[in-house]
This record gives sequence, structure tokens and C-alpha cells, in this order.
Amino acid sequence: MAGEIIDGRGISLKVRAEVKDIVQRRTAAGHRAPGLATVLVGEDPASHVYVRNKRKAAEKCGIISLHHELDAATSEKALLALIDELNTRDDVDGILVQLPLPAHIDEGKVIRAIDPDKDVDGFHPENVARLSLGFEGFVPCTPKGCLRLLREMDTTFEGAHAVVVGRSNIVGKPMAQLLLAENCTVTICHSRTRDMPSVTRLADILVVAVGRAHMIGAEHIKPGAVVIDVGINRGEDGKLRGDVDTEAALTVARAVTPVPKGVGPMTIAMLMHNTQVAHARRLGLAEQEAAS
Ligand code: NDP
Repeated sequence: MAGEIIDGRGISLKVRAEVKDIVQRRTAAGHRAPGLATVLVGEDPASHVYVRNKRKAAEKCGIISLHHELDAATSEKALLALIDELNTRDDVDGILVQLPLPAHIDEGKVIRAIDPDKDVDGFHPENVARLSLGFEGFVPCTPKGCLRLLREMDTTFEGAHAVVVGRSNIVGKPMAQLLLAENCTVTICHSRTRDMPSVTRLADILVVAVGRAHMIGAEHIKPGAVVIDVGINRGEDGKLRGDVDTEAALTVARAVTPVPKGVGPMTIAMLMHNTQVAHARRLGLAEQEAAS
């Protein structure tokens, strides 16, 4: 039986349309538009593309994009001073510092300097703790996007066995927390896991975030599973490949995300969602969780 390709791009456009609609209703009611500050340090070409795409998406959603581009030689002190200023500005609801930062800047220190209530990336330790404790906060955009894709596929969470491959702070760990909060039984695999296929084959929900092209094949997948492929790997031929061999996976799984046009566009859509949530909370408005 052939599985279904999950239309990440289509779902991301739906989320963005939901955010646009929420923002339009808020501004029509007389509130100021949400503001997202992006901070980019240095010349990394991939980072420039990511930030440009985030800013474009923000503008299309009616979110005001305030951009700060700093020289690669910018001192940590100067960056922290900018973050301090953005923390105090009333028109800034969300702050996104594009990672990685140049080697002379301590990323942890910069993340900790962001006001947790404006931390729309969800990387601040306060937000990590809130997610773990089940309190209101901000969830990192990529795992949040994966959860939305699973919801859109009418996945049963309660009692399902979810396996997350990868334990990074930005994807694997928060993904596992989200699935646990949905009452899944959660297993996390990593580079030291023994006999991984025997573990992943137990998964009703399989989320893979490793960064190794096509490491997951049909032999790793339980028949009927839903598979979310977070990996982005550029081959020598210039093509993007996921961590999952999509063709092979489709012979076994119920549904699989493609790469590209799977999880990638959801990450940006969820950043827009987090920004509108930050805006609502800061204005003391009832939260509209349509795009959660
Ligand atoms: P990290 O490198 O931070 O983490 C990779 C994880 O994979 C680690 O936990 C590592 O284990 C584990 N791992 C490595 N090799 C193996 C193996 N052979 N078997 C099992 N586990 C293994 O990566 P990220 O989480 O940041 O990103 C993962 C992938 O997702 C990358 O391709 C990245 O480009 C992509 N990505 C895509 C996004 C999107 O928007 N679509 C957003 C973020 C990331 P250990 O901890 O033991 O070292």
C-alpha cells in the first residue's frame, strides 16, 4: 500500500493565512500590528537567506519586520546592548537572533539575554523549563511545526508509541516533550542507541532529526506509521535530501513528509504563529490559538 505525502508547504500556507487573519482582525479592532525584530550578525549566506524568508513571511502576515544587520566583528557587548534595547521596546513583540553567531560571541549568553516573553524561537532556558513543566511559554518552531503536521494528519496521540531520533535542544528534546504532553509513550534515539531499527519499528509516530541523508529506510518503519522527516542534507549533486528515504518509507508508512516542502516551511509558519501569540499576550488580549 502506498503511503501519503504530507503537504508541508500547503499546511504552512494555511497556518500563515490563519496568522494573517488573526492579525488583520486585531488591527481592525484598533490594536497596533505585531512587531518581529530579527538580528543577523555576520555574512553567513544561509543565515541571510533564512532571515530574508522570515522577514518576507512576516510582512505577508501583517507583522512589522524590524531588521538589524550587524558586522561579523560586532562585539558581544554591543549585541547584548541591542537585545536590551529590543527587550524594552513596546513595538517589538518577538526577538529572533539568527544562529549560528560568530565564534567570539557566547550564544548561550545571547539567548539568555532575550526577554523570555519575546523569545519567539523558544530557546531561552525559561521557555525550555516552561515546556518541560507544562506551563505557558514559547515552543521552538520546528518541533511545533511537526506537531501541527501530525495533527493535520489526524494522528492518534493518546497511548501511541512515538520515537524521536535525535536529541538536540532545538528539535529532538522539545519534540519529545511535546509528544509526551500529548500522552504518547516516547522513546528518544541518538548516536549511541543500539539496534536502532528494532526501536524505530515500534513507532506509530516517527520523527527523525539527525542530519544524515536517507539514514531511515523501509526496514526502520512500522506499517501504518506517520513519519516526520526534519533532516535537511545537501548532496554533492546539490539536491536536498531528508534523513528518511521518502520513496522507501512510502511503501510502509501511512504518511511521510517530503524534503523539501515538508517540515522546512512549517518552521517559518510557526515563527509567525509564535509572534502573534507574543503580541496577544503583551497586549493582554485573549489568545487566538487557531494556528497552534
Ligand atoms: P544536531 O546535530 O544538533 O543533532 C543531531 C542528533 O542526531 C544528535 O542528537 C545526534 O546524537 C543524533 N545522531 C547523529 N548520528 C546519529 C545516528 N547515526 N543515529 C542516531 N542518531 C544520531 O542536529 P539538529 O537537531 O539541529 O538538526 C537535525 C537535522 O534537522 C539537520 O539535518 C538540520 O539541518 C535539520 N533541521 C531542519 C530544520 C527545518 O526547519 N526543517 C530546523 C532544524 C534542523 P548525539 O546527541 O548522541 O550526538
